[in-house]
Amino acid sequence: MLDLIIRGGQVVTPGGVGAWDVGVDGERIVAVAQPGSLPASSARVLDATGKLVVPGGIDPHTHLAHPIMSHPDEPGITLGPEDDSRGMAFGGTTTYIDFCYVRPGTDIPTALEQRAARWKANSHVDYAFHITLCGALDLRIFEQIPDAIAEGFPTFKVFTTNVLPPHPKRQTNRLDYGRIQFAMEKAAPRGGLIVVHGEDEDLVQFNYERFRAEGRTDGTNMHLVHTNLSELLAFRRTVALARAMRAAVYFVHTSAREGVEAIREARGLGLPVYGETLHQYACFNAEYYKTPRGFCSHTYPSLKFPEDQAALWDGLVRDGLSTLATDEYPTSLALKLRGTRIDDVTGGNVGAEARMGIAYSEGVVKRGMSLDRFVDITSANAARIFGLYPKKGAIAPGSDADLVLIDPGLHKTLTRDDFHVTDYSPWEGWEVSGWPVTTLLRGKLIADHGKLLGTPLDGQLVKRKIETAVLERPVC
Ligand SMILES: [Zn+2]
Repeated sequence: MLDLIIRGGQVVTPGGVGAWDVGVDGERIVAVAQPGSLPASSARVLDATGKLVVPGGIDPHTHLAHPIMSHPDEPGITLGPEDDSRGMAFGGTTTYIDFCYVRPGTDIPTALEQRAARWKANSHVDYAFHITLCGALDLRIFEQIPDAIAEGFPTFKVFTTNVLPPHPKRQTNRLDYGRIQFAMEKAAPRGGLIVVHGEDEDLVQFNYERFRAEGRTDGTNMHLVHTNLSELLAFRRTVALARAMRAAVYFVHTSAREGVEAIREARGLGLPVYGETLHQYACFNAEYYKTPRGFCSHTYPSLKFPEDQAALWDGLVRDGLSTLATDEYPTSLALKLRGTRIDDVTGGNVGAEARMGIAYSEGVVKRGMSLDRFVDITSANAARIFGLYPKKGAIAPGSDADLVLIDPGLHKTLTRDDFHVTDYSPWEGWEVSGWPVTTLLRGKLIADHGKLLGTPLDGQLVKRKIETAVLERPVC
């Protein structure tokens, strides 16, 4: 028996794009069939005529309910899952992966328990957590890695830089390369993957010192502090380490041509290396910092140059980069624009709601990205790399009925009214062709044509297990 039939759409499946009907029973897809062939007697019918039907988006990089330390004397916190995931429901993202920070003084199980408690009954869509290993962690913490993997948390985030300059009230993010090696040693043989924020700490901190000494502290210099060269050095050093440790790595927010090249070269050697970029890195460059709302699009490391944007698009459309994420960091506009100096600009992005639509409009419509590739970079690849596939990221029998209808005939200039998280979006004013109009989470309609139908009780924590092939060679 079917509960729901989605009829009349162009459906993007792992086997290609076609006119199919999708049958849903309960929370799962049970059939992808010839048009009109599913028994409709007792099922609800959702008419998808003229629409694209794609798997619910997966954003593998968000920081919700996360401390903001750009002004250490006035610490803040980003909006929580109950607020940001509302935008995801509207924008067609049905799963996201946030971070569980493990700092000296706590341990992995305790940190996971606290994070899961904060999220419970507070997310409109499904979620998971990467475990972030920060600072001078006691070595016994690394002995907890195998258990975490077995419990369904197989991804470990590390920073190769503190990102910001030292401050007595700022906790350090950086994990030294010895500890990164130790994390790889513990994770790799047991099915774990290392997620890397790759910047060269020496160069970044030296640049802060030098730019302060030279009085060049204006935030429009961010890309000269967090440089292309810093990304090159950190990515290549990390790849060399991962290769020696037989570890799989995923680089978050690749921002520079040099980063794409390092990832491509490693993948060319058959190494399990994956790269993510962000839609704001692909769509904005450092010139934008000079505009009145320029810091709305700042995310660490930094916006770069037009040739870097070209390399990122080439990596997304063709090959080399695997995922498009957000580095989601939802705040008010006032908070986002509070800092104007190289050492106090607020990082991160409010972009999860726009991610699917921007990827479609800028990728598929403007740059000829195939629909299969669109699904790969917005959903399927994140599912594969992070151990959610094929439960998530596929329109196939047995998969969760996480589905998004995109209306390719919708042309509009985005305004504040298109967004539902905070008092601004960096994407206001963008002209788009095509936009998500309907979102289903495990068979439930959670957003439809501008109406929110879901609640924060809908989202569930998803446990994960990464396929062995993903950890052995670059599969996507
Ligand atoms: Zn981040």
